[in-house]
Amino acid sequence: MQKGQISVQTENIFPIIKQFLYSDQEIFLRELISNATDATTKLKTLSSKGIFKGELGDLTIDVIIDEEQKTLTIRDRGIGMTSDEVERFLNQVAFSSAQEFLEKYKAESIIGHFGLGFYSAFMVADKVEVITKSYQDGAEAAVWTCEGDPEYTLDTHDKSTRGTDIVLHISDDAKEYLEEGRIQGLLDKYCKFLPIEIKFGTKTETIYEGEGEDQESKEVEVDNIINNPHPAWKKQPNDLTDEDYQNFYRELYPFGQPPLFWIHLNIDYPFNLTGILYFPKLNNSLEVQKNKIQLYSNQVYVTDDVKEIVPEFLTLLHGVIDSPDIPLNVSRSYLQSDRNVKKITGYITKKVAEKLHDLFKNDREDFESKWKDLGVFVKYGMISDEKFNDKAQKFALLKNTKDEFATIEDYKEKIKDNQTDKHNKLVMIYSNNTAEHDSFINSATNYGYDVLEFDNIIDNHFMQHLEMKLGDVTFVRVDSDTVDNLVQKDEERESVLSEKEQEKIEELFKTAVSAKSSMAQVSVKALTPNDQPVVITRPEFMRRMKEMQALQGMGADAFPDSFNVVVNSNHPLIAEKLVKMRSAEKKDEFVGHLYNLALLNQGMLKGADLTSFINKSIEFLK
Ligand code: ADP
Repeated sequence: MQKGQISVQTENIFPIIKQFLYSDQEIFLRELISNATDATTKLKTLSSKGIFKGELGDLTIDVIIDEEQKTLTIRDRGIGMTSDEVERFLNQVAFSSAQEFLEKYKAESIIGHFGLGFYSAFMVADKVEVITKSYQDGAEAAVWTCEGDPEYTLDTHDKSTRGTDIVLHISDDAKEYLEEGRIQGLLDKYCKFLPIEIKFGTKTETIYEGEGEDQESKEVEVDNIINNPHPAWKKQPNDLTDEDYQNFYRELYPFGQPPLFWIHLNIDYPFNLTGILYFPKLNNSLEVQKNKIQLYSNQVYVTDDVKEIVPEFLTLLHGVIDSPDIPLNVSRSYLQSDRNVKKITGYITKKVAEKLHDLFKNDREDFESKWKDLGVFVKYGMISDEKFNDKAQKFALLKNTKDEFATIEDYKEKIKDNQTDKHNKLVMIYSNNTAEHDSFINSATNYGYDVLEFDNIIDNHFMQHLEMKLGDVTFVRVDSDTVDNLVQKDEERESVLSEKEQEKIEELFKTAVSAKSSMAQVSVKALTPNDQPVVITRPEFMRRMKEMQALQGMGADAFPDSFNVVVNSNHPLIAEKLVKMRSAEKKDEFVGHLYNLALLNQGMLKGADLTSFINKSIEFLK
């Protein structure tokens, strides 16, 4: 038997391993199982190259709990190690990689917590035995033992089968790793798609024998294989049906709603990346997603925190990205500036845009029907990603209140003649609440204007984004001005009333309005007789400032809630009825009622004012 010191370093690494990585202990299992997977994959490669000539046989990796011995064993049937290799790989390679890892870990936060490797075993075990036999002809089995200090022993062993057993003598403060449920949970989390079958004991399954009435069910013990070694993303798109993709989605998110569609990513130059991204049904909402994109490295689960790897708007998607080229054991800030990661981000964005464009081109109707779920995503992408914006200009859709869709370019063409203002800007009119704005929308439609439906919180930003990007477009909400003035032209309409009459009317309304609100501006204007007699408008600029303020969580009062009261001097109720009234009392009542109607139309008549308005209306009908 041979004894030795792991390193000449004076610092003892073991207490540091335990202390620093306590919070992320559980990754030890992933590290050891991926080592076992590597050893098995290597053997398969040697065999396919004819270097290993023996039988591969059963290559399953076993995870075994022995409660009595208090051990957890990871057993593979891979290449194994000779005692020379044990010395080289475990005492030198593994040790120095663990040390390097810890230095980084102390210096900065890490993503994925990858790369600690073999020595992570000492986070949960106070003694580790490695019993191993190399695939090489005539190799003698070896056993390496270490009790969590720099001393180790290395001896021969009578193991007769090829491969490696890593036996962890679980320490008292890590007993949870002797519980079946805990280990099963970890295997599900980290090993679900590892490329080599992993067996964790057995399970009972019910099988049915015979037909019809004679059918009998039987309970049988079968191997509990915890992983799917051939996940869909590793296959060729041509070999997969829609159903395969849907089934894989269910495998990832057992409780998720079926996805809308998906993109299969597959690239090997200049970096290696595979994966499937699914578009979920977003339903016009931007809620934080429960089902996140999972990041894998050669089928080993790393994290579902992919913020640094995909642009933020793409985190709304679901699915899997697998790339051995994403550096995992480095800090977040480094990752963001990493050129490989930038390329990967760019590639994914491009693919997503291309897929959307294809869908748009190939089946416009279908694309429109999915817009409710896609729209938020596309708009979010356009606002936050320049490159995506450029691509999405071709397929982003605007929807009007008649449920008609148009691309931005087509829409501009459509409204060009009627909705260009005196400054040569195209005025896009929108409503964020078609139910509340019904009478405003009606007026606009009567003028031959088109009204867009912009009812998502992201639309506020999207609008400003388009104004900035397009330059020649301005958005106004349908209630931001009197209908004649939504698109400002130079024409002035003639009033049927004299200036004097108009002044008198303005006075009347000013008195009525100022009694209720100090924030209102009253004016008299010549609209058409078909427009409303009194209209309340909310100037676009002030309203947007207020909305922005609310979004930023500032007090609602920093900007006053000002509005305009516009009296239509050409409406018969004003031009014919009001001007002819003699009794001052009657006039006040009439003006008050018209003002209340305008408030009601804007949803601004509330409380006692609303009650008294309703009571008066009932009185009137008696
Ligand atoms: P890494 O896997 O990152 O190289 P590790 O510390 O996990 O670092 O392992 C060090 C080395 O020990 C591996 O590169 C490998 O050569 C060897 N090794 C570890 N586990 C096994 C195993 N189950 N079978 C064969 N060799 C192994």
